[in-house]
Amino acid sequence: MNNQTTQRNAIVIGASIGGLLAARSLADYYQQVTVIERDVFPSPGENRPSVPQDRHAHGLLFKGREAIEQFFPGITQELTNQGAILSHSQEAHFFMNGGYLHEINHDATALLVSRPLLEGQIRQRLLALPNVKAIENCYVLGLLTTKDNSRVTGVRFVQRHHSNSESIINADLVVDATGRNSKSPAWLANLGYEQPEEERVNVDISYTTRAYRRQPEHLQGDTAILVSGSAPSWRGGIIIAQEGKNQEIPQESRWIVSVGGYMGDRAPLEESGFLEFAKSLPTQDIYHTIKDAEPLSELIPYKFPCSLRRRYEKLKKFPAGYLVFGDAICSFNPLYGQGMTVAALEAIALQNCLDGGTDNLSQRFFAAASKVVDVPWVTAVFNDLRVPQVQGKRSLMVRLMNWYTSKLQTAAHQDPVLAMAFLEVTNMISPPSKLIHPGIIFRVFLRNIWHQQKTQLFNT
Ligand SMILES: Cc1cc2nc3c(=O)[nH]c(=O)nc-3n(C[C@H](O)[C@H](O)[C@H](O)COP(=O)(O)OP(=O)(O)OC[C@H]3O[C@@H](n4cnc5c(N)ncnc54)[C@H](O)[C@@H]3O)c2cc1C
Repeated sequence: MNNQTTQRNAIVIGASIGGLLAARSLADYYQQVTVIERDVFPSPGENRPSVPQDRHAHGLLFKGREAIEQFFPGITQELTNQGAILSHSQEAHFFMNGGYLHEINHDATALLVSRPLLEGQIRQRLLALPNVKAIENCYVLGLLTTKDNSRVTGVRFVQRHHSNSESIINADLVVDATGRNSKSPAWLANLGYEQPEEERVNVDISYTTRAYRRQPEHLQGDTAILVSGSAPSWRGGIIIAQEGKNQEIPQESRWIVSVGGYMGDRAPLEESGFLEFAKSLPTQDIYHTIKDAEPLSELIPYKFPCSLRRRYEKLKKFPAGYLVFGDAICSFNPLYGQGMTVAALEAIALQNCLDGGTDNLSQRFFAAASKVVDVPWVTAVFNDLRVPQVQGKRSLMVRLMNWYTSKLQTAAHQDPVLAMAFLEVTNMISPPSKLIHPGIIFRVFLRNIWHQQKTQLFNT
């Protein structure tokens, strides 16, 4: 435990990736951290009802893994011991704008692991800390406050399915990590505070997911393909290797395959329609891998209506002793695989804020979290606005950046330096400014001129 432990008691509502990482952060500063979760915790590796996304492909970006490893040293090894796969950059392929990005050789390895195994292992490590405990199967109903509502002092909760079992816990700090359906805006309004402004981008993404047995000959041993949607259909998909279900045979692995589209375009929930959809993606490599593979799960649908950002950092007044965290602040279009990494980076930001004490904690934390969210939010929103049916303001900047990104992706089909720069930025390893460095811009234009001339030559 950190020497600076001066605060007594913190509560985190929600024990998904966001809540678990927030709790880990607080454990260095509070004598007791209590996580309250409405689900019963399953065994590690098993799904649970309140995070339905855990049945779908979940990629953990390099920055997210690095942060999680920093909080729980050795966790990567623990996960690979259970069959999770450390994948080198040459084993993952990205199909964008009509072609694969050039293979790159980067030190950053990706951890390919199912969402339930990752969450279960983080939970196990967190709850092994002496000053952290969890209350499961309990639903938080609302906040306790001082008489003048200037400070949150705890929560009211009930055991699920026992509505007359209401209890309270007092705390110096309460953190809402209840995800995108967070009640914080309503709770704040009830206490007489303004609600945060909300930004929404309606994408109406529909996913269909199925697991398959992975055979050594599949994709020549490579571990992942991401197919990004492009005009005219904007359909995309992902296939990622992950651990098998049988913990006795850690070398056994499976594929998790999610395919989908925008604005309600969904892969059918039956085998032949699902395969047809996979075949209709801009490349058929996912289809060829799964068409004869053995399915290991049913076909599972998911609908994601909109990316949603709540601007807590703009509120002038906010109760002391209260924070909002993770997807409850910002929930991204899942196609970009950013949510868990953002939660991990917010957890680091929270520690940095607590280093400076608890005065004005909410204002300082929301400002820091907003900085964490800015880049992935802009990246996701700009990219979604390429799809003509997605509604939103296409400013000159949006159109210019999307035009430039498509040129960059085309050039990166041939150019490893550009592919590396692009993937570093999308993995949050480098800032977006890397992509507009003069040397990069020069390569983008040179490659595109060369590409254009080659196309003209072949067409004459
Ligand atoms: C289909 C899909 C695919 C995704 N893929 C990726 C990916 O590839 N990579 C990535 O990084 N991210 C991905 N994400 C996002 C990622 O799942 C989230 O960012 C991540 O789970 C962090 O969210 P969270 O913990 O803040 O909220 P959530 O995961 O929504 O968890 C909220 C928790 O709060 C609990 N809770 C809610 N209300 C109460 C209450 N009143 N009392 C007690 N408990 C309560 C819930 O039971 C739940 O456990 C994906 C999301 C979706 C929807």
